[in-house]
Amino acid sequence: RVLVGNLIGEDHVNYVLMYNMLTGIRIGVSRCQAKIKRPLTAEDYTARHKFSFDMRVEVLAFFVGNELTPSARYDFKFKDYAPWVFRELRDEHFHLDPADYLLSLTAKYILSELGSPGKSGSFFYFSRDYRFIIKTISHSEHKFLRSILFDYHAHVKANPHTLLSRFYGLHRVKLPRGRKIHFVIMNNLFPPHRDVHETYDLKGSAFGREYPEEKAAKNPRAVLKDKNWVNRGRSLELGPEKRALLSEQLKRDMDFLKSMKVMDYSLLVGIHNMERGNKDNLRENQLTVFHPDVTARRKASNAKGPSDASNVRKAVRSSDPKMLDVASQLPPMPTDRSHFLFYQDEGGLRATDEQNQDMDVIYYLGVIDICTPYNTVKKLEHFWKSMTEDRHTISCVEPVTYGQRFLNFLLSVMRGGNPALRPEGLRPNE
Ligand code: ATP
Ligand code: CA
Ligand code: CA
Repeated sequence: RVLVGNLIGEDHVNYVLMYNMLTGIRIGVSRCQAKIKRPLTAEDYTARHKFSFDMRVEVLAFFVGNELTPSARYDFKFKDYAPWVFRELRDEHFHLDPADYLLSLTAKYILSELGSPGKSGSFFYFSRDYRFIIKTISHSEHKFLRSILFDYHAHVKANPHTLLSRFYGLHRVKLPRGRKIHFVIMNNLFPPHRDVHETYDLKGSAFGREYPEEKAAKNPRAVLKDKNWVNRGRSLELGPEKRALLSEQLKRDMDFLKSMKVMDYSLLVGIHNMERGNKDNLRENQLTVFHPDVTARRKASNAKGPSDASNVRKAVRSSDPKMLDVASQLPPMPTDRSHFLFYQDEGGLRATDEQNQDMDVIYYLGVIDICTPYNTVKKLEHFWKSMTEDRHTISCVEPVTYGQRFLNFLLSVMRGGNPALRPEGLRPNE
């Protein structure tokens, strides 16, 4: 998979989907955010709010609380799941500024789509400023995330420095006569302002976990896997302090995932080499601007309005996408990451030597793809794969084994880590 954004313009097949997702988020999130904060109740975890958007009317009264919603360019239905829970996650635990969040996602109605989606069939979209990722998910992943939301929230509350994906919202779009598309919004682990020189997706298993090195040589954005990591002799260069902190957090996160019976997740690792800097320009965040409609685009190019943050907030409150053009002037580096131990060095984790002194490498890491429970399908996959392969090296195993092997691998690849912890098939020279 290649980490390149294809900008979605009006002629793109997924333009309508993108427009509807962003319109739904804009209306849904700002409605919830406008209310006075209150403590969560048990019902909040299972709540869902429905919105109908209608292109035929200027202003459409809809039936949640007698409020008015602006018309949209297309007819569609939108569902906002557990809005109060996600609001609390964003505000209290993930330290997002509500106005920034909406602006990042909807200021320009621009997303870029990640190159070729993986075998799961999910699509990935980046917000224009590269801070957020929208991932479409299957109905079963969606149901699963809802079922663990209470525990996920509790885990995040107890573990402010968690390495697990930070989920900011869970929604569904339904097109007229069309499919229902579920999606989550989460943190982009990779920084908008720095090249990532090497990317790994690590699971702690060996079978099928190698990206061809010949292809990797030609593609600096390739996502490499466990075998590449081992064959290239990589290790996580962290001094005793950071090693201890990271190990402890990984253990806690794995205990959580094991108890939720999740498997198939991975540690995404981006490596930035400070000596190399950003000259390779591997970032794909300098995107051209498209606008939802031509008149607005023309207007926007003529208008040279003021560009301070209060104007931007005013524009968000007005909920008019055409007014949001000023947002491009906002400073690029968000402050939320400074709250988190493993994301506070330039948005990541700086390598350190044995004296805990900084080295010239920054890691961008996190545990991703955490919504796959070990269900019947996965049990069958395990059964078939273990007929022909060593069952210790296949990625599809039950959650406790998966979590232990994953953790062992990561502990073994930290500098000075115990080689005896290496899972089968991932020992050097194997
Ligand atoms: P599969 O189930 O086939 O593994 P998937 O569609 O569930 O694929 P993920 O495993 O979630 O997809 O992600 C695939 C790739 O997308 C990752 O290897 C990584 O390159 C990129 N990616 C996913 N989540 C993030 C994130 N939060 N930040 C940055 N990149 C991400
Ligand atoms: Ca995955
Ligand atoms: Ca997946």
